[in-house]
Amino acid sequence: MSLLFPVRCAVCGEPIEKGEDLCEDCGSVLIRMSDKTCKRCGREIPYCFCEGNKKDFDRLAAPFYYEGVAREAVLRLKHRKGFSTADFFAREMKRVFEREYLEEDFDLMCSVPVTSGQIKSRGFNQSGVIAGRLSELLDIDYRPEALRKLFDNSTQHFLSSFERTGNIFGVYEADHSVVWGKNILLVDDIVTTGATSGECATMLKLRGANRVCVICAAVSRPYSYCLPK
Ligand SMILES: [Zn+2]
Ligand SMILES: [Zn+2]
Repeated sequence: MSLLFPVRCAVCGEPIEKGEDLCEDCGSVLIRMSDKTCKRCGREIPYCFCEGNKKDFDRLAAPFYYEGVAREAVLRLKHRKGFSTADFFAREMKRVFEREYLEEDFDLMCSVPVTSGQIKSRGFNQSGVIAGRLSELLDIDYRPEALRKLFDNSTQHFLSSFERTGNIFGVYEADHSVVWGKNILLVDDIVTTGATSGECATMLKLRGANRVCVICAAVSRPYSYCLPK
């Protein structure tokens, strides 16, 4: 273990052996999503969220539910406690990609954007950081300019599912010169109701994207919407 740059657990930040992502404690309670998922919403079949929730993305896949250790890791990433967490998620998302999306033929990747004001206050866009890492692992072009966020609607997670959909209409814009005719892999950090990634997919398709598949770090099960993002 290097004393200067110790490898740290992606969840709790404890120094760990090189080549590992998590410490033994966190690793022992990490639960990965099984492969018996709904191909549309990415949840395991008993938790399918498709009924009455049609979104404009064609598919969604995620390695984890937004619960337990995976949720702690997402929060760690949000609070800027080290980008090894982004590497951890990118590696886990690659595994899911290889299971779910191998028959897809993606032209480019983009990520759910934040406004320049949000970048200034937060320092980075965590979906963009994950997308950059995942792009290297999958060797798919990352084109962050494909989507833009026009204004801040950051109170999103206090709203109901119905209000969320109304709250984000017109928040995103897609660049037709980038997305026209393309099959797109859209990266998000957490998907709860799917309103945000759904709206991004709507704009991508409105600007001519052919197919939009979402891959995210974690997706919530239907009963856990009220968890703060
Ligand atoms: Zn740990
Ligand atoms: Zn479903």
